[in-house]
Amino acid sequence: MLPRATTMTEPTSRPGGLIRTIIDGDLASGKVREVVTRFPPEPNGYLHIGHAKSICLNFGLARDYGGRCHLRFDDTNPGREDVEYIDAIERDVRWLGFDWGPHLYHAADYFEQLWQWALLLVEAGKAYVCDLSADQIREHRGTLTEPGRPSPYRTRSVEENRDLFSRMRAGEFPDGSRVLRAKIDMASPNLNLRDPVMYRIRRERHHRTGDAWCVYPTYDWAHGQSDAIEGITHSICTLEFEDHRPLYEWFLDQLPVPSRPRQIEFARLNLSFTVMSKRMLMELVQGGHVQGWDDPRMPTIAGMRRRGYTPEAIRDFCERIGVARADSTVDMALLENCIRQDLNERAQRVMCVHRPLRLVIENYADDRVEEIEAPFFPDDPPRMGSRKVPFCRELYVERDDFMEEPPKKFFRLAPGREVRLRWSYLVKCTGVRKDERTGEIVELRCTYDPSSIGPGAPAGKKGGTIHWVSARHSVPIQVRLYDRLFGVPNPARKDGGDFKEHLNPESLLVLTGARGEPGLVGATAGERVQFERKGFYFVDPVDSKPGAPVFNRIVSLRDSWAKIAAEG
Ligand code: ATP
Ligand code: MG
Repeated sequence: MLPRATTMTEPTSRPGGLIRTIIDGDLASGKVREVVTRFPPEPNGYLHIGHAKSICLNFGLARDYGGRCHLRFDDTNPGREDVEYIDAIERDVRWLGFDWGPHLYHAADYFEQLWQWALLLVEAGKAYVCDLSADQIREHRGTLTEPGRPSPYRTRSVEENRDLFSRMRAGEFPDGSRVLRAKIDMASPNLNLRDPVMYRIRRERHHRTGDAWCVYPTYDWAHGQSDAIEGITHSICTLEFEDHRPLYEWFLDQLPVPSRPRQIEFARLNLSFTVMSKRMLMELVQGGHVQGWDDPRMPTIAGMRRRGYTPEAIRDFCERIGVARADSTVDMALLENCIRQDLNERAQRVMCVHRPLRLVIENYADDRVEEIEAPFFPDDPPRMGSRKVPFCRELYVERDDFMEEPPKKFFRLAPGREVRLRWSYLVKCTGVRKDERTGEIVELRCTYDPSSIGPGAPAGKKGGTIHWVSARHSVPIQVRLYDRLFGVPNPARKDGGDFKEHLNPESLLVLTGARGEPGLVGATAGERVQFERKGFYFVDPVDSKPGAPVFNRIVSLRDSWAKIAAEG
């Protein structure tokens, strides 16, 4: 739109650096004594990771400056809003680790005050009732290159405006028949100043005010005044609102507001391989493309929580991406890495074979069972202790840990090759059994080297280590492999057609035959583990039952998408 009024660069890499510079200045000059910020969601959907950035920024600034951050529901659009969303938003902000204390507010609580202030503008000849339709208003507004044309109703007298505006509120006119507009400047180069709409007539029940109102304020009218009422010092919003700032200030200038907030813009978070507009997320939910707002593939906070992401990892991510003034897209791999780093420190390592292939150790007695001591955390065994894993003649290993004709660098099982079974013996593959009809390999035959564990065992030979479970003692495990929801880095690209065409058909894979070590049946909802060599998993809090945990893959151990992203 308009050329940027100011250009700022990030002075430090600290999150919110440029905003902190402004705040430091306001504190130093005495303009501000206590820093008050707010997070102002519209309750018309669930919060997503972009909101998390805003939450971390606003609550983080309040925390660091010893001020406070309000949670304000920007509920000026009844009809699109719902109590379900309000509850979800509160839960999500809390889960992220932030607390608004007693400072929970609603724009709806200011409807009467806003009305009175609008009346002041009417009295001062700075607002008028306009009977043009929405389309006509748009036509009259002009464009970036053409000035607007004044509405024929712009010259209404104060008396007539006062009368009509009161009757709008009293419900005398049908929905959409009239609006209240600020009288500013139809020739302004900033379209937002060309007599913006302040009130619309809409007979719509509001979740807080019920049927008390049939006129509702617009965002531009409600937002800055709500900030002023609450004593917000720094009203931080995304860059699209930069061109609204002159209007934000114009309203404050005309009114006897109790405080003078300052609007500061920052770049919104865009993340690759997903979409972040509530409209699109809503479409995914309503169209049944996902299982709900908290589907573990959704970029919503509820979805990430259900997937098994931790609040710590999300906060870490928000710190690392920082706050800049230039729009950019952050690579999903960065978020995934934050999760890996966090879970790497705290998730117990256990074994689960996803696609089992039977392995028979020919020189191991059929009736023998050994309990193998396996640390939960190999890098620091004392920290998380260990468990005993049963080992016997028949095991399961991962189907793709065997290749009949392997390439040179395949450090897993193949005829004649030897591998280490995690925490246990070296085994060497001596042959395979195949299904006579299909030719599919159904069993591996091996021998083990009894001297390959315990004190004095020979150092590991060249070859890999693979995970395994006992065929007899292992338990069936429900595993859901979640992957990125979209198959392309920028599914919402404007010229890319319907974003839903880019949904990744393999974003959810439910495994049917996975087998885990026996202790896994006891995993409880909300626990996180690492299945060795596979990834981090979360015991789904909704679908798990005692004794029957369902494991959601949070993230694999490596970024398997790096190449695709580079090509995209
Ligand atoms: P959407 O565009 O997804 O519908 P919104 O901006 O309409 O989102 P709000 O509920 O109005 O959603 O947003 C509440 C706050 O969160 C606002 O202050 C907004 O600036 C901020 N916010 C929303 N999306 C992002 C994002 N992607 N990155 C950073 N902040 C965001
Ligand atoms: Mg919004």
